[in-house]
Amino acid sequence: MNAAIPPRRANGGRARILIVGGGITGLAAAHRLRERLGDAAEIVIAERAMRLGGKIHTVDLAGRPIEAGAESILAARPEAVGLAESVGLGGDLVHPTGLTPALSLDGRLRDFPTGTMMGIPADPADVAAIADVKERADSGGPILAPGADMSVGELVRTHLGSEILDRLVSPMLAGVYAGDVDRLSVAAVMPGLAEALRRHSSLTEAVAEVKRPSEGRTRAKERVFATIDGGLGRLITATSAASRADVRLGMTVRELRQTPYGWEVIAGPVPDPMRIEADAVLLAVPASPAARLLRNVEPEAAAALSGVAYASVALASFAFEDIDLPEHSGFLTPAGNGKSVKAATFTSRKWPHLGRRRTFLRVSMGRLGEEALLQYDDADLIKTALRELGEHLGQRVPEPVAQRVDRWGGALPQYAPGHTERFRAAREKLRARPGIAIAGAAVDGVGIAACIASGQAAAAEIIAQLAPESD
Ligand SMILES: Cc1cc2nc3c(=O)[nH]c(=O)nc-3n(C[C@H](O)[C@H](O)[C@H](O)COP(=O)(O)OP(=O)(O)OC[C@H]3O[C@@H](n4cnc5c(N)ncnc54)[C@H](O)[C@@H]3O)c2cc1C
Repeated sequence: MNAAIPPRRANGGRARILIVGGGITGLAAAHRLRERLGDAAEIVIAERAMRLGGKIHTVDLAGRPIEAGAESILAARPEAVGLAESVGLGGDLVHPTGLTPALSLDGRLRDFPTGTMMGIPADPADVAAIADVKERADSGGPILAPGADMSVGELVRTHLGSEILDRLVSPMLAGVYAGDVDRLSVAAVMPGLAEALRRHSSLTEAVAEVKRPSEGRTRAKERVFATIDGGLGRLITATSAASRADVRLGMTVRELRQTPYGWEVIAGPVPDPMRIEADAVLLAVPASPAARLLRNVEPEAAAALSGVAYASVALASFAFEDIDLPEHSGFLTPAGNGKSVKAATFTSRKWPHLGRRRTFLRVSMGRLGEEALLQYDDADLIKTALRELGEHLGQRVPEPVAQRVDRWGGALPQYAPGHTERFRAAREKLRARPGIAIAGAAVDGVGIAACIASGQAAAAEIIAQLAPESD
């Protein structure tokens, strides 16, 4: 056994905090720890891959930085923009053009109705052109009892009918979660709506309440999202630098155990393992590695994590010399149409900073249960993407000047009904063991802003737990 990182006592008394996983969650946590603890802590990030960023990965295509993974941050909530600003990238934030996505339905691209929440209308008239809404008679009592949850599929089907579910809500949710509406929890994927449903007996009234702009919350549509000129990879690099963490790339953490003086992990290659001792460990990895690491530490938390299913997606990105695109930012498509493509982003239409010299476009394929798609070779995925793209656009797609394929196995966690409650209970159990925290997309929300919030909250929790000792 190779004890390359010695225990805290041999470390001049500085607390060592080990972060497992160098995606945006782990990096946001490292940054927050450094902000709050200064040099009083040694922060180590163990990352399995040979690069930081996880699902955020900016690459070059035809000389421009494009996103091989996540492509935008939610600017309507403060965490992602706040992090970008505090690592010196505030001046490089760019916003989309304001074009809206289309819905590819009945063989043509149609405008996505405005005023909906993930496709659920506040007023059935807003979606009448797309779907026949069958609003259920008001039962008088709130739709969700305190602590209760249900799937988005059940909610919408029961209260507004299946046409709106299939034609609007399902394509919208597939665009974000690549998931199955009948397995996605309302409380976890739309927490604001779930709260309103605990007060309202009508779904449309609950949506209207959540969508009603409160004072100071009104933002121009195009300001809801943002990215960084040069790519989101810059947020990863800048956050890592600002955290001054000791980053260990290519280091898989395989075992975790509590010791009388803190925590110990076994990391690195199986034939040459390394023992790392730490005062606290913050797990910022996807559900299945997190479950494996917690199996012998806190079985209830491990079981909650094991229950989180993941959808996989394949992305085909293209650069075209010239292609005729409609005035939209891309399109979404309903499931069950026998097609692999679930969405497309007209990247250079959506993001003005990419310039007009070439047209960049990205096609997203695969939903929950369609993992086999990832086994196709690149040429097949490209062929499928271009053929289906042509069908949706109603034109022959020209030969791209550059292209690439990215496969994301285990891309997007699926929060099943009861997710929020299960993890509240799991965290409660974990709290009995000071110096351990879980964070990230597996638990607290798929979006980058939610992951940053989750990493920051886990950092605060660890600081609170270490504080009495470090006095
Ligand atoms: C194709 C795609 C498009 C997306 N688009 C958007 C978007 O536009 N906007 C948005 O907000 N969100 C988007 N998301 C979601 C968002 O990118 C992710 O939810 C988020 O980046 C997850 O961050 P994370 O740090 O929690 O996890 P990850 O990014 O998964 O990072 C976890 C890290 O842990 C490492 N790791 C795993 N096991 C171990 C181990 N045993 N030891 C050490 N390290 C380990 C992994 O290598 C990885 O680097 C998208 C996701 C995908 C896949």
